[in-house]
Amino acid sequence: MGSCKEEDGNQPNCLWVDGPIIVGAGPSGLAVSACLKENGVPSVILEGSDCIASLWQQKTYDRLKLHLPKQFCELPLLGFPENFPKYPTKHQFISYMQYYAIHFSIEPKFKQVVQSAEYDVVCGVWRVRTQDCEYVSRWIIVATGENAEPFIPDIQGIEKFQGHVRHTSVYKCGSEFQDQRVLVIGCGNSGMEVSLDLCRYNATPHIVVRNTVHILPREIFGFSTFAVAMALLKWLPLWLVDKFLLMVTNFTIGNTDTLGLKRPKTGPIQLKNATGKTPVLDVGALSQIKAGKIKVAEGVREITRKGAKFVDGQEREFDSIILATGYKSNVPAWLKGCDFFTKEGMPKTPFPNGWKGDNGLYTVGFTRRGLLGTASDAVKIAKDIADQWRLNKGCKKH
Ligand SMILES: Cc1cc2nc3c(=O)[nH]c(=O)nc-3n(C[C@H](O)[C@H](O)[C@H](O)COP(=O)(O)OP(=O)(O)OC[C@H]3O[C@@H](n4cnc5c(N)ncnc54)[C@H](O)[C@@H]3O)c2cc1C
Repeated sequence: MGSCKEEDGNQPNCLWVDGPIIVGAGPSGLAVSACLKENGVPSVILEGSDCIASLWQQKTYDRLKLHLPKQFCELPLLGFPENFPKYPTKHQFISYMQYYAIHFSIEPKFKQVVQSAEYDVVCGVWRVRTQDCEYVSRWIIVATGENAEPFIPDIQGIEKFQGHVRHTSVYKCGSEFQDQRVLVIGCGNSGMEVSLDLCRYNATPHIVVRNTVHILPREIFGFSTFAVAMALLKWLPLWLVDKFLLMVTNFTIGNTDTLGLKRPKTGPIQLKNATGKTPVLDVGALSQIKAGKIKVAEGVREITRKGAKFVDGQEREFDSIILATGYKSNVPAWLKGCDFFTKEGMPKTPFPNGWKGDNGLYTVGFTRRGLLGTASDAVKIAKDIADQWRLNKGCKKH
C-alpha cells in the first residue's frame, strides 16, 4: 500500500492499495481477507469500530449462543476448536474470530468509517473515503453486513413513553429489568431470547406478535433442525422438506396458533429464501409462553405515556420497552453511483449470484444465509480476484 498524495503535514490523505479494499472487519471481512491471503493476494480492511466482529462484541446480549450448530458457522480454512460445544457461546465465537485474525495475520485499520465509495470511470479505480483518508484500489469488497444498523420502525406514540426504550443491540442482560413489566416489540429469535432472559430476572415480558411467525424446535429427535433440513434438501424438494418440518414441529411442540403465534401459510425454508425472514429456533421461550410467564400480545395500536394500547382494545402499563425489530444494511448510505444494491442495501441478484458486480465490486455476507453464505462468498471472491491478480502480475513481468 503506498501514498499517492500528501496533506500539509506528513499525513498522507490518499493511499493506493495494492489488493482489494475490504469494508468491514466482521466474520465476512475476515473470511475474505484470509481466503485472499491464501491465494497470495494482499488486502486492506477498513473497519469503522475499534475491534473485529463489532456486531458480536458490542451489540449482542450476554446469553447469546450461535443459533445454528458450529459446523454451519465456521469460516473458511480454519474450523472451530474441537472442544467447543455444538452451539458455541458468543464469547467462544468471538475468541474464535480473534484467533482467526491472528492466525492469518489480519490487521484491519480500525476507526475508519467508510463515508463514501465510488467508481472513478476515468482512472478505472474505486475511491473509498473515510474521515481520515481516501483509499484507492481496483477492487472493493463490501463486507458491512446485513445487520449494520438497528432497524427502528415508526411506532405511533413512542416519543410519549416515560419509561426506558431500547433496541436489542444495546440490551445486555435482564438484571437491569428486574421485576419490571417489559413490552418486547418483535418476535424473531432476538425478541424470544430476550423475553426468556427477562423471565430469569422475574420481569414480566409481553411479546408483541404483529404478524405470523414460524417457531421450530432447535432440535428434533436429538438432531439440529437446521442440519436435518439441510440434509433432506439434498434429496427432496423444498416444499416437502417444509411439510416434514412442520409435521415434526406439530408433533414435538404442538400447535403454536393456540398460543397466539400464528404460522405463515408459506413454509419456513421457502419463506426464509423468499423474504429473508428467519424462523425462530426455540431455546426455551415457548415453554415460558405456555406457562404464562411470557405473555403474547397482538399488534400495538399506539404507545402511551405509561404503556401501550393494543389492537384488540386492551391497554396495559409498562416500565420499559425493548425493540427487537431487527437490523438493516447501511450500504445505500455510502456506496455511490452504483445500482447493484436495492434501496434496502441488499444485492439485487439473489444468492448464489449476488457476490460479484461490475468494475471490481464484490459483496460478501449478503446472502440471507448467515455464516454459511459468508464462507461460500469468500471462497468465490478470493478465487476470482486471484485470477485477475495473477494475470496482472504476469503482464507486468513481460
Ligand atoms: C443476535 C444475532 C445472532 C446471530 N446468530 C447467528 C448464527 O448463529 N449463525 C449465523 O450464521 N449467523 C448469525 N447471525 C447473523 C450474523 O450477523 C452474521 O452471520 C455475521 O455477523 C455476519 O457477518 P458480517 O461480517 O457479514 O457482518 P457483521 O458481523 O455485521 O460485520 C460488519 C462489520 O462492518 C463494519 N462496518 C459497517 N459499516 C461500516 C462502514 N461504513 N465503514 C467501516 N466499517 C463498517 C461493522 O462495524 C462490522 O464490524 C446472528 C446475528 C445476530 C444479530
